[in-house]
Amino acid sequence: MGALSGVRTAVKIVNPATEEVIAEIEMADAAEVDRAVERARRAFPAWSAVAPGERARLLRRFAQVVEDHAEELARLEITGAGHTIGNARWEAGNVRDVLNFYAGAPERNHGRQIPVPGGVDVTFAEPLGVVGIIVPWNFPMVIMTWGVAPALAAGNTVIVKPAEWTPLTALRLAELALEAGLPEGVLQVVPGEGEVAGARLVEHPDVRKIVFTGSTEVGRLIGAKAAEQVKRVTLELGGKSANIVFADSDLDKAVASAPMAVFDNSGQDCCARSRILVERSVHDDFLARLAEAVRAVKVGDPGDPASQMGPLISAEHRERVASFVTEADVYAAGSCPSGPGFWFPPTVLAGSSSESFRRAFTEEIFGPVVSVVPFEDEADAIRIANDTAYGLSGSIWTRDVGRALRVARAVEAGNLSVNSHSSVRYWTPFGGFKQSGLGRELGPDALSAFTETKNVFISTE
Ligand code: NAD
Repeated sequence: MGALSGVRTAVKIVNPATEEVIAEIEMADAAEVDRAVERARRAFPAWSAVAPGERARLLRRFAQVVEDHAEELARLEITGAGHTIGNARWEAGNVRDVLNFYAGAPERNHGRQIPVPGGVDVTFAEPLGVVGIIVPWNFPMVIMTWGVAPALAAGNTVIVKPAEWTPLTALRLAELALEAGLPEGVLQVVPGEGEVAGARLVEHPDVRKIVFTGSTEVGRLIGAKAAEQVKRVTLELGGKSANIVFADSDLDKAVASAPMAVFDNSGQDCCARSRILVERSVHDDFLARLAEAVRAVKVGDPGDPASQMGPLISAEHRERVASFVTEADVYAAGSCPSGPGFWFPPTVLAGSSSESFRRAFTEEIFGPVVSVVPFEDEADAIRIANDTAYGLSGSIWTRDVGRALRVARAVEAGNLSVNSHSSVRYWTPFGGFKQSGLGRELGPDALSAFTETKNVFISTE
């Protein structure tokens, strides 16, 4: 790899819907990462000393500048990542909202006063220093911001390493931060290869925390590497979430919502409900109606507001997704464009006890492929839902409130949704059980992931 030997490599950024090269981005080597860390380290004392109200004002201004450039950011995510225009606009709005939400945090970053004998005891939530945020390619700008906003609000300086395939919105956001008045060195974006720039961030002794979102495989490596320095980590990893449909549910709604609960962003979503578990008495009916709904999913030009699904991110990823689909397991498939672009049709697998079906049912495919199985009763549904190393999200469809709560409490996952498929809302904590991750992002407590509690005792004697 050139970057390891000191010769910079460049990566061609390809529009996944057309296969056109839209940019060429130079990849940072380890020395460039070191320089970025040095800039971040130097920027930290002044940034952490900015008065809370002023830090809040700067974050609000950043949110406003994002709002002013929302359409431009959305367009970059369409051409650079193949996101549909509806999704891309929502994502730009989410970046703005998350910045605004955490702009409220610096002025509320309270410590506590704890009653003790002989004096006064107070706690402070101190920033950590330089934080490294390593981002995947599936939701480039929002996942970056879920780390950046609370980290900056808490007084840290931040270096983002975007995924190799999708650095464009991250680079633009760093420019917009400067335009909004954030000081130089407070938020930097360093595009680079995972094994080079990402690995250097993880091993650099001046980087005090790593927020990593990506595959469980790489997350494990990063966790192990970070442990050598007792470096703080938040890990947001893979998923294989269950959509559990009971016979007493509003079946029309359950059927209508199931396709986009997995095919949104072409299934490249860590929270994709890629396993559908259906109570046996309604299983065949559900499956037949699901097939109809899936055939109606509109796959096409992501810039067309009518498109519900765009392409996959790359030819390489499409090959991986295809490796999970064996003709004999396919119950139904939708259609997709032919010709240039990394297209893949929404696909339903069902009714098979084959080895290939089992593999598709257990491994994270990260593409528009859903597997459907029947279950006998509540206990059976919970057993199947939990029979996975992952534990990120899940949905429960039933009209029985007691059962909804029982099942929600029994499923080992961080984000459950009843009669809906909600996963990520910036007001609420987000993260995984088991091998889906470590720690939580977003929600009211996100700053605690970017601060250390310091206890100070003041003697009054
Ligand atoms: P990935 O693990 O291949 O890469 C993620 C990031 O890590 C990239 O920026 C990559 O360059 C970097 N990286 C790779 N090797 C590294 C190393 N040795 N050291 C440091 N950094 C390294 O994941 P991906 O293919 O980009 O994304 C897909 C995965 O992300 C899926 O498994 C998906 O479920 C997961 N994901 C999880 C969440 C969540 O919040 N739980 C959200 C989105 C995606």
